Amino acid sequence: MVIVQKFGGTSVGDLDRIQNVANRVSQTVKAGNKVIVVVSAMSGETNKLVGYTEHFGDNPERAEVDMVLSSGERVTAALLAIALNQMGHKASSMTGRRAGIITDDAHTKARIERIETEAMQAALDEGKILVIAGFQGVNEAGLVTTLGRGGSDLSAVAVAGAVKADLCEIYTDVDGIYTTDPRIEPTAKKLDKISYDEMLELASLGAKVLQNRSVELAKKLNVSLVTRSSFSDAEGTLITKEENIMEKPLVSGIALDRNQARIALEGVVNRPGIASDIFGALATSNVNVDMIIQTSGHDGSTNMDFTVPQNELNDAKAVVESFCQKNEIKDASYNESICKVSIVGVGMKSHTGVAAKAFSTMATENINIQMISTSEIKVSMVIDEKYAELAVRSLHNAYELDK
Ligand code: ADP
Ligand code: ASP
Ligand code: MG
Repeated sequence: MVIVQKFGGTSVGDLDRIQNVANRVSQTVKAGNKVIVVVSAMSGETNKLVGYTEHFGDNPERAEVDMVLSSGERVTAALLAIALNQMGHKASSMTGRRAGIITDDAHTKARIERIETEAMQAALDEGKILVIAGFQGVNEAGLVTTLGRGGSDLSAVAVAGAVKADLCEIYTDVDGIYTTDPRIEPTAKKLDKISYDEMLELASLGAKVLQNRSVELAKKLNVSLVTRSSFSDAEGTLITKEENIMEKPLVSGIALDRNQARIALEGVVNRPGIASDIFGALATSNVNVDMIIQTSGHDGSTNMDFTVPQNELNDAKAVVESFCQKNEIKDASYNESICKVSIVGVGMKSHTGVAAKAFSTMATENINIQMISTSEIKVSMVIDEKYAELAVRSLHNAYELDK
């Protein structure tokens, strides 16, 4: 079998852990498999590097930021290759560039456009273990790009798809996907299987155990994805097509996203095309807008409230301020002390009352819901950040997810 094994930050957090990863890879190779490894930077490293880039002032050039951020993964990839070679294996590390990962130009959150597999294929044919630095690629102009936080998951899935691997294993510090973050709710239960769509919702709604774009790509390329622990041999969670899952619980999981900010626009001129202009400009600046609420304001104007990821708030502010200057928005305010809690489950498609239960649970806890959005398989609520954990725990309890 060809297996892609991805190891996250905690799994390669220090030199002993890198040795532990080398042992695991070695076992997989000795069992007769061809292995491509994708690694993250050591845990905490990317945050440290982000901090460095922000030291000299606001809005550092994104291309330079990517040069800095991509370095963390180079270190772990090369160290793992060294460890494997010391054990008698033939291993080579590769940067994203060498692995042929070509992206667009959106520095710090680039999208993979294609993968040129020649170099990887040649190394595999030579019987080598490949160790690829995750989280990075290169644009057409040859500049290094990074794939957004948590992007090593995406590297792994993309590589698995490109070389038509039989399996893509994501090794992390928990032994699978749980009904909610086990660090918040210790009674959370591990799921044996979860559908791509539910996992995509959970990941998009804040469950950082998998990067959302990696799940989207796994679904598209039909990559068999397993999440498991690098510290135990426990069986992980298979992320698969909905039809492969017999039991369909009403609610599969609860997600929490603390990385949210709310922008409130008051006195927006009420003319056809204004929403298109504002949200079009935000999209051009690569700001991901999530929930939007529009209400009518005074003297024919309108109010718009929407949420964006906290780390895109500065970009969003720049766009909003430009509309304020043109007098198309009277007043704008920004609130970072909010969070979004969501319940996700394919079973919701065919059952009523799921959303109502979420609202009544918040009411019982006296938590005010600021915004709501729903889709076929999820209900999301924006609430004050100070109630984040309480909300997750009481919802987990209300839907009896510990049973
Ligand atoms: P890595 O560094 O290996 O990529 P991450 O920190 O990105 O690992 O993701 C693993 C973490 O995701 C876990 O430690 C856990 O706290 C968190 N997490 C959030 N939601 C879930 C969930 N539903 N199931 C499992 N882990 C979750
Ligand atoms: N090191 C990067 C991050 O912390 C990518 C990853 O770990 O997946 O976001
Ligand atoms: Mg991660």
